[in-house]
Parts: sequence; structure tokens; C-alpha cells
Amino acid sequence: MTQPCLPYGRQRVDEDDIAAVVEVLRGDWLTTGPRVAEFERAVAEFTGARHAVAVSSGTAALHAAMAALGVVPGDEVIVPALTFAATANCVVYLGATPVFADVCRDTLLVDVASVEVRISPRTRAVVGVDYAGQPCDYDALGELCRVHRLALVADACHSLGAAWRGRPVGTLADLTTFSFHPVKPITTGEGGMVVTDDAEMAARMRTFRNHGITTDHRQREQIGTWYYEMASLGFNYRLNDIQCALGLSQMRKLRTLIERRRDIARQYDRAFAAFGRISPLCARPEAAHGYHLYVVRLDPAAGAPSRAEVFRSLRARGIGVNVHYVPVHLHPFYRSRFGTRPGLCPVAEAASESILSLPIYPAMTDEHVQYVIDQVRSVFESQSLAPAA
Ligand SMILES: *Cc1c(COP(=O)(O)O)cnc(C)c1O
Repeated sequence: MTQPCLPYGRQRVDEDDIAAVVEVLRGDWLTTGPRVAEFERAVAEFTGARHAVAVSSGTAALHAAMAALGVVPGDEVIVPALTFAATANCVVYLGATPVFADVCRDTLLVDVASVEVRISPRTRAVVGVDYAGQPCDYDALGELCRVHRLALVADACHSLGAAWRGRPVGTLADLTTFSFHPVKPITTGEGGMVVTDDAEMAARMRTFRNHGITTDHRQREQIGTWYYEMASLGFNYRLNDIQCALGLSQMRKLRTLIERRRDIARQYDRAFAAFGRISPLCARPEAAHGYHLYVVRLDPAAGAPSRAEVFRSLRARGIGVNVHYVPVHLHPFYRSRFGTRPGLCPVAEAASESILSLPIYPAMTDEHVQYVIDQVRSVFESQSLAPAA
């Protein structure tokens, strides 16, 4: 096989997805039309949640969730340190303070004991992040939040289609947010959704995504009025019908897409267990993992190549390895605004120095998977044959 160019993740868009989009383009409603509610219903039904609110990105979903909870300046929201910046940024959008909890070494999911010690009288909510597509321990997080009367939000941007103890992601927290960015489990180009069983919060988020206006264009059209009221300050966070048509079409194949990801993960697991020089993150037996990411840990033993060397070598061989993530509290913005420093979340900080995400996405072929496995082996083997410096 000639050297392929494999990103760490990418969309799978088929002819039926394209046809669904084209149909909307030929129709009357490009936005605020019927596809929006249909896509919301499809995600609500799949996850088992009562209400779903489509928004323009996963970040908008997190922002809407925080606003629906009534997070205000002075509040604290506990978030894991090892996540995409948006998880914490949405707290800052509302003038509140993100408080960073550490993660568990084996799964890199939020450490519930670390959350507990960070609870203060100002804490309003806890956000769990389903890192790499594996759901957090929502039993332990839910119990902690119940005892302390805190809201629980699931940042499930990695984990649509995953489950915890047989219960689907979407029903495990008060509010669950999804992203439909091209690397995520399904895509709408850009897009997001919040699901919840709480009708009042869903209504608040519908208003929030439409400037704080209490009716949308289509509702006014139907009752024949021009009059509307803006009751609170919102945003234009709408997801349009072109995007929702793509999302609906993608939802029909979500199970197939997840199955393919799991299949690739099994191939990697088998190969790396035999190889023994890198270790995949731990998948908990209670979790049905979505494998948004396939993350391995390089434990630099004597004579092993460094993460930087492995990264460089694999990139040179056309393998788009990546690092998820820089711990959020170490970003310059957080250091200067909130005074966060190294040492705050030692497990997350150490992990971010030693992890690597390998390509995993449904359109990857078995030959691609084998190419990645062979190249990983070869990088380690060429290193151990090199004379000591
Ligand atoms: C992708 C992602 C987001 C943001 O989603 P966008 O759709 O890109 O705005 C938030 N949190 C996590 C954990 C993500 O991976």
C-alpha cells in the first residue's frame, strides 16, 4: 500500500446524506423548517430523552445548558481538566468560574473524589465529559450531585450512541450536550444538541437559541402574526434545515458507524496487547464505549522513544496522530484570568504528556488500521535498534 494520509478522525458522508441535503435546498425551508423538529425527535428517540433542542454547535449546546441552569456570576461549575476548552469556556461566558477537577489515571474520565473535594458553597453544577466516547460513572456523579443539590451536565460531545450500565447517553444527567462537528459520532458540518427530560429547561433553551424571543418565525407564520417579544437576552444559535437534514440522515446509520468504530478499536486492542509497548486507555466493563477517539499511553521505559519522537515519526508516515488535550487550566487564558497553575490536576497534566490519539473513524479500512499498527511497531523497533546516544 502506498503511504496513505490518515487523519485522527473524519466524517463519513454517503450518497443518501447528500440526497437529503439537496432535497432541502430545493424546498421552501432552509432554516426554522420541519427538518429541525424531525432531527430533534430522532435524537430524543435514540437517546430516550424527552426533549431535544438543536443548536449551531456543541459549544452553543454547552452555553445553552449553562444558561438554562441559571448559572450567574459568582457561581462555580466543576469541570474536568482534560477536555476541550469549550467545556470550561461556556461557564466563563456566563461570568461564572470553572473549577478544575482531576481525572482517573486509567480512563482519563473525571475523578469523582476530586470533584467532591472541590465542591464549595458557590458550586452550582458539575460537568462530566465522556472522554474519547466512554461514559463517566454517572451513578457516582449523580449520587454526589443529589447529596449536594447540584445540577449534573454530561458533555457527551464524544459519546452519542454510547451507554453506561445499559442506559444510553442522554438519560444519565440533567442535561446532555452533543456536537456534530465532522470528527464527532455523526455530523451536520457544525452543529449541536442538548437533550433533557426537563420541559422547562428545554423551553428556556429554545428561547435562548433564538435571541430570547418567545416564538420562532414558523410559529408566527402559522398563527398569522408579526408580533413577537424578546423576554431575555439570547443568541442566534439556530441549526438550519440543511444541517438538520444531514443530521437526520446520519442518525439512521449511527449504530453502524459506532459498530465500525468498535471494530477498529478491537483490532488495535488485539495488536497492542500483543505488542506490549504502548497501552490503550482502560474501557470499563459497565460502559458501552463509543470510541470517538482511540487514545494510547506511551510509558517511556528505558530505551523507548519519547512521545514527541513517536508523534513526529507517525506524522511523517502519513498518520495524523493528535493529542487530546492540553489540560484546560494550563491554557494562557485560564492562567491569567483565574490564576490556575501546573500542579492543580497532576494526573491530567502527566497524562497529557504521554498520550496519543490514533486514527479512528468509520470510513477507515482494515488495511488502514493494519498500516497504523505496522507503523507504530516500526517506530518503536527502529528506535530500539538505534545505538544508544
Ligand atoms: C467538540 C467538543 C466540544 C465543542 O463542540 P463544537 O461542536 O466543536 O462546538 C465540546 N466539548 C467536547 C468534549 C468536545 O469534544
